[in-house]
Amino acid sequence: ATPTSIMVGTGRGAQMGVLFRQGEALQSLRDARVVAVDKTGTLTMGRPELTDFIVADGVDKDATLAMVAAVESRSEHPIAQAIVKAAQNAGLALPALTRFESVTGYGVNARINGATVAVGADRYMRKLGLDVGAFSAEAERMGAEGKTPMYAAVDGRLAAIIAVADPLKSTTRGAIDAMHQLGLKVAMITGDNQRTAQAIARQLGIDEVVAEVLPDGKVDAVKRLQAQYGPVAYVGDGINDAPALACADVGVAIGTGTDVAMEAADVVLMSGDLGGVPDAIALSKATMNNIR
Ligand code: ADP
Ligand code: MG
Repeated sequence: ATPTSIMVGTGRGAQMGVLFRQGEALQSLRDARVVAVDKTGTLTMGRPELTDFIVADGVDKDATLAMVAAVESRSEHPIAQAIVKAAQNAGLALPALTRFESVTGYGVNARINGATVAVGADRYMRKLGLDVGAFSAEAERMGAEGKTPMYAAVDGRLAAIIAVADPLKSTTRGAIDAMHQLGLKVAMITGDNQRTAQAIARQLGIDEVVAEVLPDGKVDAVKRLQAQYGPVAYVGDGINDAPALACADVGVAIGTGTDVAMEAADVVLMSGDLGGVPDAIALSKATMNNIR
C-alpha cells in the first residue's frame, strides 16, 4: 500500500463520516471475514422501554413496581432507567432503601423496609437459588417478541416478571444486508437472554448469535470467531466493549458511544449507526485493490 493511496482512502472515509484512527485499519478491514456486533446501543437504540410487569398471585403490583424502581434508581444500566421511568409515569413514590448492591451482568439488590429486593436476569435468580419456572410461558413469549425478560424477588420469593424492549435503529437492517452483499458473516455478541437475542437475530438475518455473555466474556467470543472464521471486525459502543474492540483485528466504535470505546477502536463511525461499516469495508476493498 502506498502512503498516497492510504491518505486518499482515509480522506474519502472522513467525507463519509468514517474516521480511520490509523491507516493500518484501512488495510486490515479488507481482510475481515466476520463482523461481530454488540446488540444494545449498536443494533438497537440503547433506550429500552418497560413493556410488561406481571406479578405472581397475591402480590401487589404497584407496591412491587415501586420497590423494584427504588432499587433500579441506584443502577446506571439502561434497563434500570426504563423501570424508574415507568414507575414515575404511574405516579408511584419510591421507598427508601439501604445496602444497594449491583452484580454486574446479573442484576441488582437492596433492602427496603426490612425486606430484600432483587431484580435481574434469570441467571441472577438461579444464582440466588430461586426457580423462575412459574413464569416460563411469559418468559418464552417475551423472548420470542425480542423483549428482555427479567425477574423481581422479594425476600427470596419470586414476585414479578418484567420485560423491556429496545427498538432497533432504522438503519440496522440495511447495514446488515449490505455486509452480506460484501460476503461477510455477521455475528451478534450480547449479555442479553438467549431467546431474545435469537429473535432479534432472526429479524435481522444475523448469521450467528453469542448470547448471555458475561461482561468480561466478549473477548473470548471474539477469539472463538477468529479461530473459526478468520479476521474479525468488532463493532460496539460501550465501556464493556473496549476489550473486544482492542482484541478484534479491527475495532469499530459507534461515534455516539462512550469515549472509552472510541479510544479502544481503530475506526470511529460519526454517523452513530452501523451503516458506516459496509461503507468502510467497501472503501477498504476499493483502496487496497487500486494499489495492488
Ligand atoms: P447488556 O449490555 O447486553 O445488557 P449486561 O451484562 O449489562 O449486558 O446485562 C446482562 C443482563 O443482566 C441484562 O440483560 C439483564 O437481564 C440483567 N441486568 C443487568 N443489570 C441489570 C439491572 N440493573 N436491572 C435488572 N437486570 C439487570
Ligand atoms: Mg452496547
